[in-house]
Amino acid sequence: MRSISCARHLLLFLALFVACGGGGGDGGGSSSGAFAERVANYKAAYGKTDAWEDWMIANQARYAATFAASSARPNTINISFRYETALIAYAPAWADEGEHMDALETMAEGAYPGYFFNFIFEGNTNTSYANVIAGIATNNSYASGKNVYLYYETIFNHEFGHVINLPHHYDSVGDIGNGQHMPPGDTTCIMDRTSNTYCSACRTALGIPLDISDTTDMDNAVADILSRYPY
Ligand SMILES: [Zn+2]
Ligand SMILES: [Zn+2]
Repeated sequence: MRSISCARHLLLFLALFVACGGGGGDGGGSSSGAFAERVANYKAAYGKTDAWEDWMIANQARYAATFAASSARPNTINISFRYETALIAYAPAWADEGEHMDALETMAEGAYPGYFFNFIFEGNTNTSYANVIAGIATNNSYASGKNVYLYYETIFNHEFGHVINLPHHYDSVGDIGNGQHMPPGDTTCIMDRTSNTYCSACRTALGIPLDISDTTDMDNAVADILSRYPY
């Protein structure tokens, strides 16, 4: 459908965009052909519509950097965890940080089916894929490069989305939760702050299945973490 010259222009644009973005993703490894192939495979595997495929191709620029980063991710995603200043006064306290790291791992793997997370308390921040800095002073969690600064640890899945280059669905803060830039058939997503799972567009870019959404373990882990928070 799209001409070859069109595809070349798009690729050139993406390469420039990623180079200027300063993000952590390896956008240079992306190719529009590989993305279109992923989209076609997902369409066939999960019975998506022509309209969905058209939307995905038209919105490729939103997802190219995530597609590249997810394709290049290590088999095990090591996350180094530390507190910004002092230990959070969880009540009840965790038996040890191992139990705490396990809960975070369960929470993360619920939103990223097929990804294997390994949370390491005070792990090596140079060799890690991303770092959690927990217990920041204000309720304004954010990601900066591979560092994820968390007030509530349960926002991790959203902030890790940024580490792997996902954009918000909303263009401005006032549009949070309005379902902007959603593919046909979807209305909610982690990156629109309306769900604890990803929409089909984000999933396709991340390379996670569209048909796995058993959130029981994740929900239990989130409830456990939140129940211990002192604030
Ligand atoms: Zn965000
Ligand atoms: Zn999404």
